[in-house]
Amino acid sequence: MRFILLLLLSCLYLFADLTTVKIGVLAKRGESITHAQWDATAKHLSEKIEEYQFEIVALGFDAMKKSVAEGTIDFVLTNSVYYVDLEYHHGISRIATLINRDHGSMGLTRFGGVFFTQADNETIDELEDIKGKRVGAVDPLSFGGWIMAQYELHKQEIYQEDMLLTFYGSHDDVVKAVIDGEVDIGTVRSDTLERMLEEDQLTMEQFRIVDRRSLRDFPYISSTALYPEWPFAKLAHTSRRLANDVLTTLLMLPTESRAAKDAHIAGWTIPLDYTSIHQVLKELKLSPYDKHHEITFTEFYNTHQNELRAVALLFLATLLIFIYVIRLNRTISSLNINLEKRVKERTKKIEELLDEEKEHSELVDAVLNSQKNIVLLSDGVILLRANQAILEIGGFDSLKALTTAHPYICELFLKEDGYINAFEDNEWIAYIMEHPDLEHKAMMIDQRSGEKRVYLIKTASFMIHLHDLFIITLTDISELESAYRLIADKAVKDELTGIYNRRKFHEVIDLEFNRAHHNKSTFSIIMFDIDDFKQINDTHGHNIGDYVLKTISQLVSKHIRHSDTLARWGGEEFMILTPIMDLKNAYDKAEKLRILISLYPFKDVGQITCSFGVAEYHEGLEKSVMIKSADARLYQAKGSGKNKVVAE
Ligand code: GH3
Ligand code: MG
Ligand code: MG
Repeated sequence: MRFILLLLLSCLYLFADLTTVKIGVLAKRGESITHAQWDATAKHLSEKIEEYQFEIVALGFDAMKKSVAEGTIDFVLTNSVYYVDLEYHHGISRIATLINRDHGSMGLTRFGGVFFTQADNETIDELEDIKGKRVGAVDPLSFGGWIMAQYELHKQEIYQEDMLLTFYGSHDDVVKAVIDGEVDIGTVRSDTLERMLEEDQLTMEQFRIVDRRSLRDFPYISSTALYPEWPFAKLAHTSRRLANDVLTTLLMLPTESRAAKDAHIAGWTIPLDYTSIHQVLKELKLSPYDKHHEITFTEFYNTHQNELRAVALLFLATLLIFIYVIRLNRTISSLNINLEKRVKERTKKIEELLDEEKEHSELVDAVLNSQKNIVLLSDGVILLRANQAILEIGGFDSLKALTTAHPYICELFLKEDGYINAFEDNEWIAYIMEHPDLEHKAMMIDQRSGEKRVYLIKTASFMIHLHDLFIITLTDISELESAYRLIADKAVKDELTGIYNRRKFHEVIDLEFNRAHHNKSTFSIIMFDIDDFKQINDTHGHNIGDYVLKTISQLVSKHIRHSDTLARWGGEEFMILTPIMDLKNAYDKAEKLRILISLYPFKDVGQITCSFGVAEYHEGLEKSVMIKSADARLYQAKGSGKNKVVAE
């Protein structure tokens, strides 16, 4: 009996020891600073969650990886990039995202990177100018202090492996290096400059921002997109129940608490989406996306034989202990009854919350579906909700089917000039938000009718639990759009022949004068007129005359380049503008057209000829003089027997 009691006691001692919960924190500025920052958070958690004693373990990058792999810690608090790596390799999962303190009251859950130069540096105006310049950054592994910047350079195809890059170890040192002229351009985390200004380490006149972005609801300057702050994550072995308790406690952490103040944060929020960071690392081929080589089991076995044997032995030992513990458990199962009761109570509470959430969700769906417009709800990257209208147009029977086929809604947009299409750039919502003064339209195929439809896009943003959310509405304006097109067409096209009119030709030639002047290039115009057209009208009637005008327009249209412009100049007079072509080539072109027309069998009429006048642009020539010159040469062709081309 005494033996059993002793066993039970030692067992309880064992359990008491197990209740220590370890939070591994990335010690980016050394162990003592890490403890000064986070010990209060551990203390707060220990106070609120009675069964457990929380403890901070300050870890460097390698030690952190090892502790996660070996499961010697229960939670991880680390920077976003390293989190993504650990998530990928060791299945840790975030339960909360940190809210950074800022000077305002709201707190920030995202941050970015900024590019800047000395104020009087005239050699760097935009990011493009960075080529061949000396660049200063914080650390190859610093997200805000280099990786975001690298991604920006990569996206704009400016990044090169052999850039003149210096890492200074800290954000402040990068700023100093730029001000001292050690480097031409620097990049740091988005709040660094503002902080240094506030601390009087810097003045506004000393630096200039490169590629500044206008970002709503973000108080700092940034040259890159924004990415989520540090997450708090649980390891795979950590129980859901414990994670829930930790999450609840963190979410309720008051901004003015010692824990929040010591950590320089405003609190915690439900975890953000880290997909954008995966995307960055994937495209830059950084860990965990740096290895393409898949290790086969044989390779693994060959290199890890000893470890595998040890694991097998360990497994055997664990099995024996497991059997022993099961037996022991029977004895102590009565102790668990109380615990079960508490779990049941908590489960009931969660179920009630879920029911409430479901009711809200149904209400939101009902409101959305009462709309004829398409209504989308997005967090800026991923589609969260959509109403029935988009499903019907896209031919999907559920939101899940839609988002599986098109993770980004903009993939439904057709690539047409003048319409939003963002296949390469998923920041289309941001673009629309940043240009509220422009009219944004998208073209989509309505799968029910197969027709192209045009939609006017409007966006509005709001914030819930510090998450940016966007409501996007798409209103079908196809009928309006086609009416508008008809009017627009009427203004530039000739009604009878469908080719451009004289007014449009003037627009085109004006542009061509500018282009030729800028590029120091040339171009030519060909003017032609149907010979004895009056006679055709008189002999065969006006309708046949019209038919001849239309047929010649179509014939010539088919035999000129895509870049050439054909227009009806007057009654039976036409103009062609041929970019880049010099006089000699334009003459040849006109000669070909002359022969083409003269050989064409016109219905009822038979053969018809035209006379041509050609003129070439040269620097300083006026438009009216150029047109007059083509006209005079055409007149000359008429005077010397018609069916001719005159070019000088
Ligand atoms: P030339 O060889 O010297 O050019 O003689 P022409 O008879 O072609 O020239 P003229 O200027 O004497 O006659 C042009 C005719 O074109 C007169 C006009 O009635 C006719 N015309 C102008 N516009 C149209 C049109 O839209 N349709 C038809 N059918 N005829 C038109
Ligand atoms: Mg004529
Ligand atoms: Mg004429």
